[in-house]
Amino acid sequence: MSNSRIPGRNFLFVPGPTNLPDRVQRAMMVASEDHRSPTFPDLVKPLFPQLKKVFETDAGHAFIFPASGTGGWEAAITNTLSPGDKVLAQRFGQFSHLWIDLCGRLGLEVIKQECPWGTGNDPEKIEEALRADKNHEIKAVLATHNETATGVTSDIGAVRKAIDNAKHPALLFVDGVSSVASLPFHMDKWGVDVIVSGSQKGFMLPAGLALMAASPKAIEAGKKNSSRRAYFEFQDMIKNNETGYFPYTPSIPLLHGLKEALAILFEEGLDQVYKRHHHLAEGVRAAVGAWGLKPCAKEAKWNSDTVTAIVVPEGYDAAKVISTAYKRYNLALGAGLSEVAGKVFRIGHLGDLNELMLLGAIAGAEMAMLDNGIKIQPGSGVAAAQAVYRADPLLKA
Ligand SMILES: *Cc1c(COP(=O)(O)O)cnc(C)c1O
Repeated sequence: MSNSRIPGRNFLFVPGPTNLPDRVQRAMMVASEDHRSPTFPDLVKPLFPQLKKVFETDAGHAFIFPASGTGGWEAAITNTLSPGDKVLAQRFGQFSHLWIDLCGRLGLEVIKQECPWGTGNDPEKIEEALRADKNHEIKAVLATHNETATGVTSDIGAVRKAIDNAKHPALLFVDGVSSVASLPFHMDKWGVDVIVSGSQKGFMLPAGLALMAASPKAIEAGKKNSSRRAYFEFQDMIKNNETGYFPYTPSIPLLHGLKEALAILFEEGLDQVYKRHHHLAEGVRAAVGAWGLKPCAKEAKWNSDTVTAIVVPEGYDAAKVISTAYKRYNLALGAGLSEVAGKVFRIGHLGDLNELMLLGAIAGAEMAMLDNGIKIQPGSGVAAAQAVYRADPLLKA
């Protein structure tokens, strides 16, 4: 078969960047405009209260930085903490690892707790470490809400409780890059001090915006800390955003895209968005079970509704499955990262997706596994997912 151009769409099932809704793509096709014009605030100002709605915060301040999620991590740290400060972080996947690495580079002392990959935040171990920290030297706890590398979601409410149980004043920072706008997120209820997200996952946009919110306590901490920062200064953003502007040139097409993406999320309703993600994920999990395979998530309580990492049987290379899926079937599956490289492939099920799109991805993964000699029953995953989707379809006729 010719490889010059395959008709139809590329099936994009990596857990970010996710599919762009046509409406978002059209909204971003705009001429350049003056970001200091008197009408520019009409576009900018409504974005902040809408973002706060997604984060579920009244008290917090929302930020839109021209950056990827990684820039959001850096903004969170440099705006609140000082070099030499201690932070407590648990490592259980590539993204929790990278945040720890970034803290180290910024001069923080990270107290690392290792948790097995395939599990998530362990609140008991957090509470223990905080109780032992009698002098309150730990300034922040970092939690990765959804570990995208392993398909594990952590209970942030339980992390909050651990901090409260220990009566410890540490700030709570959460990486919600692959959870916000796809999984329920309660910033105020969970007492989250900084939430970091990015545009290219649940928000259904290209990468390029770090979408964040900070609690008054976190913003206050930033007035006394000594980390150097310039580009990521919260105070410059706050001052400029108040009037509907930015301290520098924002990505204007991305702001138009964000406006449209937020409209789409609110039209569906956030509750329905979360339900849909759970429903789509249940189909994928049923497929994995029918293949006789296991997810990387070690127990059902860790299952992520935005991404599933599927462990291939011993003796097979998951990287080959991913390569076959891409080359033969125009299907992009997520790679295994770092410790799980070659052991897992990932199906991202977040963003602008529905049941039949997922069935396509499941069918493609099935073919690619069969092509690589993995012994699964042809059609079994598709049939299992169909059963889940038919039992409670998204559209109620
Ligand atoms: C994608 C992702 C990031 C990194 O975001 P970039 O936008 O690539 O910088 C961080 N954390 C998690 C959990 C992610 O899924």
